[in-house]
Amino acid sequence: MKTTTDFLKTCPLCGKEYKGHPAISRVDNQTPICPTCGTRQALEGLGLKPDEIDKIIQSILKSNEL
Ligand SMILES: [Zn+2]
Repeated sequence: MKTTTDFLKTCPLCGKEYKGHPAISRVDNQTPICPTCGTRQALEGLGLKPDEIDKIIQSILKSNEL
């Protein structure tokens, strides 16, 4: 299987385009999703509340913009 990180990929969860290494969905262990959704699912797996997850995601997105 060819792994290319140069193409823009569309995340099936949030619909956003992303580049680079995808995360793998924890739902079926094979669907590539964007790193943001990968982080979200990882946090959900830790049992965090949705509002706590949103705060963490937002802070990650902000730090990526810098
Ligand atoms: Zn996504």
